Amino acid sequence: MAKGMDQQSYYLKRDALQALLDVVNARGYQCIGPTLHDNCIQYQPISQVTQLPQGLHDQQAPGLYRLQQTDDPRYFAWANGPQALKPYVFASEEVLWRSDRNEDGSLQFTRPDSPAQKLAVVGVRACDIAALYIQDKHFLQAAYKDPYYASRRQHLVIIAVNCTHPADTCFCASTGDGPCATYGYDVALTEITDGFLIDARSQFGTEILQQLPIENASATQIQEAGNALSAAARQQRHLPAHDLNQALFANLDHPQWADIAKRCLSCGNCTSVCPTCFCHSESDRAALDGKRSDHVRLWDSCFNAGHSYIHGITIRATTTQRYRQWLTHKLGSWHDQYGRSGCVGCGRCISWCPVGIDLTREVAIICGEEQR
Ligand code: SF4
Ligand code: SF4
Repeated sequence: MAKGMDQQSYYLKRDALQALLDVVNARGYQCIGPTLHDNCIQYQPISQVTQLPQGLHDQQAPGLYRLQQTDDPRYFAWANGPQALKPYVFASEEVLWRSDRNEDGSLQFTRPDSPAQKLAVVGVRACDIAALYIQDKHFLQAAYKDPYYASRRQHLVIIAVNCTHPADTCFCASTGDGPCATYGYDVALTEITDGFLIDARSQFGTEILQQLPIENASATQIQEAGNALSAAARQQRHLPAHDLNQALFANLDHPQWADIAKRCLSCGNCTSVCPTCFCHSESDRAALDGKRSDHVRLWDSCFNAGHSYIHGITIRATTTQRYRQWLTHKLGSWHDQYGRSGCVGCGRCISWCPVGIDLTREVAIICGEEQR
């Protein structure tokens, strides 16, 4: 039996999926779901299952993402798109505070109201739930809780979909984060031939299930889902089973870093699509009339030279230094900070790297598992 399939499962017919959206919507949540948008699968507000990417299959490889429309009736027969949950909790751009100049010349500081839209994201993969929990560790640390993140997180409902169609770039099985969701969701679906296995993990999810036309899943349906998830866990990519924190920091002068830098454009695509990256910059946008200034937080990237500019010095001036910073943090020192790797094996940084740099291969070379 596949991981995560050990609790009571129910069955929902494919043509009853609309009821799930309707019930969640009726509880005051805006549904966000995967849609075909700009030639890739992206989350957008949805209200109808017809907006889901039914029949779409994805092909992913280093530097490659392609979609193909098929007559497959499945809604979730693809791995992932460039976007994870990150933008829904950690906005790519937001005003943290505002200062207004009063008539008497004094300054008045205000904080925009905390965003509180209730969102239910449909189709969330196990790797992205794991990434959300990693970001929770960063943004919700007791002494430094981010009120913007906290507010969005509090109003987020997760409708997970266990992944039965991993891409060639996926390696969540080797990080232990997928392909089956085992925590952190309200409702989870596993798509099978004629519908879905469906289960709940939270009180909210249980209440949702009570309003759906579900029936007990048969042994055959449970077996089909289990087989599909077991097959999905057999992935061609993996991270080396070394202690990567130790191995990477023992190889800071490995010649592969310079080799990567000859290919890397330092564009930061990998950090934009990575569901766990949280680097940001802050700046002030002053109105031309001098009456208002917004203090803005923007996603930033350790691949930007300016991100390491401190007191007149760019600490990581070269691409070699920046890629090494990214990988040693993501796979190494993240363990010291957050007690686990910063990588959940989603493979996005591989597919969306314009020159196809594959971190699984690079780290295998640096750790001596593969030849250059
Ligand atoms: S480092 Fe790459 S594979 Fe790992 S979580 Fe980030 S985008 Fe996904
Ligand atoms: S590894 Fe790829 S995506 Fe990341 S900065 Fe370099 S070229 Fe861009």
